Amino acid sequence: MLNSLIGAAALLATNTVHDAPTLDYSIDIASGEAGTTVHVGLEFTGDEDGTTEIVLPSSWGGQDQLWGALDGFELSGDDDGRVEAGEDASRLILHHRPGATITLNYQILPERVGEPQAELGDYYRPYVEPDWVHLIGHTIFAFPQIETDPRVRISINAPDDWGLATDLNHGELDINTLLTSVTVASEFRVNQRDISGAPVRVAIRGEHALDDDALMAATSQVIAANLDYWGADGSPYLVTVLPLEAGPGVMSVGGTNLGDAFAFFATGNAEAETLMRILMHEHVHTWVPGQVGGSLDGEQEPAGYWFSEGMTDFLTQRAAVRAGVWSAQTALENWNQTLRENNNSPVRDVPNSEITAGFWSDGNLQRLPYHRGMIFAALIDHAIRTQSDGQQSIDDALLAMYAAQPETPAPLAFASVVMETTGLDIAPLLERHIVNGVPVTLPPDTFGNCGTVGMFTELVFDYGMSGHRNDAGRLVIDEVAPDGPAAPAGFEPGMVILERLEGAVGDATVDSVLRVRSPDGSVSDLRYRPTRGETNVYPRIALADTDLVDNGCAALLGGPPL
Ligand SMILES: [Zn+2]
Repeated sequence: MLNSLIGAAALLATNTVHDAPTLDYSIDIASGEAGTTVHVGLEFTGDEDGTTEIVLPSSWGGQDQLWGALDGFELSGDDDGRVEAGEDASRLILHHRPGATITLNYQILPERVGEPQAELGDYYRPYVEPDWVHLIGHTIFAFPQIETDPRVRISINAPDDWGLATDLNHGELDINTLLTSVTVASEFRVNQRDISGAPVRVAIRGEHALDDDALMAATSQVIAANLDYWGADGSPYLVTVLPLEAGPGVMSVGGTNLGDAFAFFATGNAEAETLMRILMHEHVHTWVPGQVGGSLDGEQEPAGYWFSEGMTDFLTQRAAVRAGVWSAQTALENWNQTLRENNNSPVRDVPNSEITAGFWSDGNLQRLPYHRGMIFAALIDHAIRTQSDGQQSIDDALLAMYAAQPETPAPLAFASVVMETTGLDIAPLLERHIVNGVPVTLPPDTFGNCGTVGMFTELVFDYGMSGHRNDAGRLVIDEVAPDGPAAPAGFEPGMVILERLEGAVGDATVDSVLRVRSPDGSVSDLRYRPTRGETNVYPRIALADTDLVDNGCAALLGGPPL
């Protein structure tokens, strides 16, 4: 058996008197004729009054009734002890001798077996499959309702030949770190590298756009780049990658940030760049907003997303360039996508209060703080550089926030820290562009030698038809707009688009040539210009026509050297 005993330091200290109660968990992953089983044991000291309330997993990650995967509750250590259902399904009541040391045993028995399906969206739930397990702490751990914060220890056993990876061995545990954890075993291939003296592991199941070595290398580079940016010590980090099944043509990527781990879920057709972008964004969240003051509380949280998500995207771009995962050119193309998305957003000028009110119900409002906040960060960075004659940047303020760990939430502390570190009063800019939502017009030299920000005119793309995908994943034309560009070219309902020979979706500057099959079986190539001639004016960085490393652009995008 592979025994990963965690919390050894705590075990050595058992002779010391501790006020805090201790919860001793064990997870036993076994593989036998009955398939795979996962047993959880929880040993602790029961309440002095002889009854202890147990909290079961309930709602997390958009999933409800998580208690359904916990089964076969039994009490040991007290012959007269018994387990009773609580007042609602998320609670158990244990009866035992007053103050007795007892063990609550249960099994993880998922309600659904089989591979994770993108469409079902239940991939955060526990998986106990014949050849692998995937267990997120929030969905598997029951714990006693006790007033004092308990110390938590855990040991995990898995069959010898099963690869095991968990962030539960990253150091001292409490209830929060127990819940924000992921444990995977078996078919996961575990790679490890030391970054600044701490282990970084990537545990992958299935095939993805990035092979194991490439993902390990890129993850290591990004982590090293972020540690370098923040001047932080290395700390253990785990990335798990679980494949999702989906219908043809469906691409799905999801993930959850677990503090010292990131659990990834992706269909095999997810592009490498998408995977890396998400991974980099999540790793920046190690600092933003948690280590620079934290987020706003409760229902007000989305009001601070311009900082916690927008600044994270700004720093993701920094990390990508620092790590060498993105060239300066790729980072600028990413900026151009952000400028365009913001420009095209139907809600780009709404006040921040509308984001707070509608964040969870409106996809446009959900995206807005990401691009609004990122563009605002560029504006502030430029203002600080200009005022300090290039001596300071937004990074000075962010690093000051990390050093001081303000007690005020980061979105509220930001302006005053900028004032303290640079003398610049950004409060009016924050009021105008964030609170009131007036779109930012970036000055032409915002990106220094990288290029010039200006307004450009483009033809608006118009596909001219719509349809649905067939079983083979090909588009079947349902409707052709009679007054649009596709009708004169000969596109008709019922045709199947077999292949694109020229052009691209979204590009109205060149002809599109599509190979189509008509209902009678004949195949032809149809050429048209996918536009009605309408134009759109949008902001864009025109890239400098020189080497973007030699001219200092890459250094500007990557942030200051320590
Ligand atoms: Zn985020």
